[in-house]
Amino acid sequence: MFFELVQTDYDFIIIGAGAAGLMLADALGSDPYFKDKTVLLLDKDAKKTNDRTWCFWEKNAGDFDKIIYKSWSQIEFSGENYKADHEITPYSYKMLRGLDFYNSYLHRIRSYGNITFSQALVVDITDNKNHVTVTSENGSFHAKKVFNSTFDYKSFYKQSKYPVLQQHFIGWFIKSDKAVFNPEKATFMDFSIPQMGNTRFMYVLPFSETEGLVEYTLFSPSVLPEEAYESAIKEYIEEKLECTKYEIIEKERGNIPMTCFNFSANNSDNILHIGIAGGWAKPSTGYTFMSTNRKIKELVVFLKRNKPLHTFNSKDRYWYYDLLLLDILYEDNSKGRRIFESLFKGSSPQLIFKFLDEDTNLKEDLQIISSCPKTYFINALLKRLF
Ligand SMILES: Cc1cc2nc3c(=O)[nH]c(=O)nc-3n(C[C@H](O)[C@H](O)[C@H](O)COP(=O)(O)OP(=O)(O)OC[C@H]3O[C@@H](n4cnc5c(N)ncnc54)[C@H](O)[C@@H]3O)c2cc1C
Repeated sequence: MFFELVQTDYDFIIIGAGAAGLMLADALGSDPYFKDKTVLLLDKDAKKTNDRTWCFWEKNAGDFDKIIYKSWSQIEFSGENYKADHEITPYSYKMLRGLDFYNSYLHRIRSYGNITFSQALVVDITDNKNHVTVTSENGSFHAKKVFNSTFDYKSFYKQSKYPVLQQHFIGWFIKSDKAVFNPEKATFMDFSIPQMGNTRFMYVLPFSETEGLVEYTLFSPSVLPEEAYESAIKEYIEEKLECTKYEIIEKERGNIPMTCFNFSANNSDNILHIGIAGGWAKPSTGYTFMSTNRKIKELVVFLKRNKPLHTFNSKDRYWYYDLLLLDILYEDNSKGRRIFESLFKGSSPQLIFKFLDEDTNLKEDLQIISSCPKTYFINALLKRLF
């Protein structure tokens, strides 16, 4: 839908109508404080395809419950020599389909009189200090503040201070001719597969006894050829799920940066990077969806204070924990299985979720840290210090 927008000046421009852009647009549109602010939301895509599946854990009811596709109260973790099913109450592991999120949020956003959504590829963003010019293939626009969720791995190339791993994966949505899944239990991480010198695991989301998502995931520096993911998925379905007759209904693929890179350096008084581009993906896990939900709530409060945008993000102790894990996995990528296996053996999933939500106290941090192989972390810490 390319059309010329008559208005070219806005208070806020949001670039990208993905998770972060849509959550921000909705938060601004639904808050009466911003009712006099004009907002332009730009995306190169119409957001009409189901291009991803989002999962997150949450206690009790939450903001996305109306569009949740499936949730689980049990998860399985498997390592090399350890396998356990865990009840995760009071948490649930919730899943939503990308398309349901886009449809629901775009529908709401269209009802706000002060927000315009336009499909346009952004080709340049220029900070003129007192305003920002956003140039798109559909014209140029100006705003007092710009929120940019477009991300490019090239932003990391200029630095070597922080290792960059990728969480890269391909998943198949399959339908089998017999019951192969337990729909009550999601496989959070199955490390019982060949590691080949990396951190590799299977992630399985069962929707019914015959339908589910089987995803081959790595936390490693470089992506693999497509056949490598696909042959591993095929082997897993045949050998672990003991299923040879199935149909592939849909596929998804992804690549999420895992790094403690200083994303804030890309921000200025009037431009803030949000979502993955803002460093809101948890460096040690790639989980981004719920952290983005939390960050957007903080951002709305922050915007009401009218402070320079580059002062929004801050570092805390979890950033250092993530950095040490990434240092270890970057130096020897095969150590991931042992670390995650020790973690799940030594701590409850409830405590692990709380820690990954960055909500633990120091005593709980120590409990988590002491369940991991200590020499790995001490050596990584010493290398960072000296
Ligand atoms: C397949 C997949 C599965 C994932 N699963 C999970 C999960 O289970 N849990 C979790 O927490 N995280 C998950 N993630 C990670 C993360 O939550 C998502 O990547 C999430 O979409 C990130 O939100 P974002 O707003 O930063 O980026 P995006 O949602 O990718 O949004 C960026 C938007 O910018 C647009 N855009 C890009 N360039 C331009 C341009 N030049 N001009 C205009 N528009 C542009 C894109 O079209 C896109 O709509 C997953 C990622 C993928 C890819």
